[in-house]
Amino acid sequence: MTGLYVHIPFCVKKCAYCDFFSHPPTEGERESYAEALLREIKNTDPEGRSVTSVFFGGGTPSLMGPDLMGRILEALFRRFEIRDDAEISLEANPGTVDLKSLRALRAMGFSRISLGIQSLEDAELKALGRIHGRKDALEALKAAAAAGFENINADIMTAIPGQSLQSLERTLREVVGTGVQHISCYSLILEEGTPFYERYPGGSGLPDEDTSVLMDELVRRLLGQVGYGRYEISNYARPGYECRHNLGYWKRTEYLGFGAAAASLIYKRDGRYRFTAERDITAYQRDAHLPLSERREAFEAMRRLTTAEEMEEFMFLGLRCTGGVLAGDFRKFFGRDIFDIYGDVINSAKEEGLMGYEASSGRIFLTERGLEVSNRVMANFLVE
Ligand code: SF4
Repeated sequence: MTGLYVHIPFCVKKCAYCDFFSHPPTEGERESYAEALLREIKNTDPEGRSVTSVFFGGGTPSLMGPDLMGRILEALFRRFEIRDDAEISLEANPGTVDLKSLRALRAMGFSRISLGIQSLEDAELKALGRIHGRKDALEALKAAAAAGFENINADIMTAIPGQSLQSLERTLREVVGTGVQHISCYSLILEEGTPFYERYPGGSGLPDEDTSVLMDELVRRLLGQVGYGRYEISNYARPGYECRHNLGYWKRTEYLGFGAAAASLIYKRDGRYRFTAERDITAYQRDAHLPLSERREAFEAMRRLTTAEEMEEFMFLGLRCTGGVLAGDFRKFFGRDIFDIYGDVINSAKEEGLMGYEASSGRIFLTERGLEVSNRVMANFLVE
């Protein structure tokens, strides 16, 4: 089982809070980048992998337009054995799609779309520096369904400047009312180097911590009441619509990244390797046709994970999911009993009511309270 990720590093305009690897494309840059992606895909040995999910993320993949997206997707289909039931997702900004482009994307094989809605309040969207307004967001949600997408995610943000519990509730209820199958809900984070970091020093001017906690509670309660199951710290889905590609990240199945700054986790006979492709688009476009061993920057970043790192990742990533991790999987993976390594940590978190353990299945998970303070709990799983 392998996931494929394609990074599209372009956005119409940079949002004031965003530190993702993306920028507005220069003249002809989308085309030249797409050509580099085609070279990289053609140059990658599929090694008999069976692909269960494909995800175009960014940036704003929809900004590439259906023609370029179609060429890239087709190249992946030609190169890899992509299963008939594979989940094929793209991220889209509501300001960059219409019914025609969505129909074209659906027809070429995309089965899931993730729309960066963030809010349905114009003042909040403006404060974030988004290119779309409430009307665009609602139209995009409607158009995605009309184009035949039966698996739609809406990204929603909390702790936006000027946001209140009431306005968040209005957004959530209206988004739910559109019938989306999946909702991701992230709190605004002040990232160093972004305009927001300067504009709201130390978070002053943003909803305060107590309000943020109440917002998170509201999200959990409201989405739970209307039938969206929380399956990961920030992700909610109707039954059966959990994002398979992202579950792969949390369960640490293999994934291959394509494009500048794309990350990969590769399974080899002697262990698992992580690497990130060149962050410099010029270097990426220059070297995309070369075998990985000759792509200096990407290759230098490649390294085999130590057993300690693997154990930490197994816990950090697995515990993000409400299903938690299985003691049996830990044993299969590492040949060790999870309690030999983490017994003290698990037991003390259990005593605090932050973790649970089901002896019958061997499931170890964060409780609702544990999920609220997940960073603190996870820090205890560092092996060294
Ligand atoms: S559209 Fe998304 S990726 Fe692009 S700048 Fe805004 S938040 Fe960042």
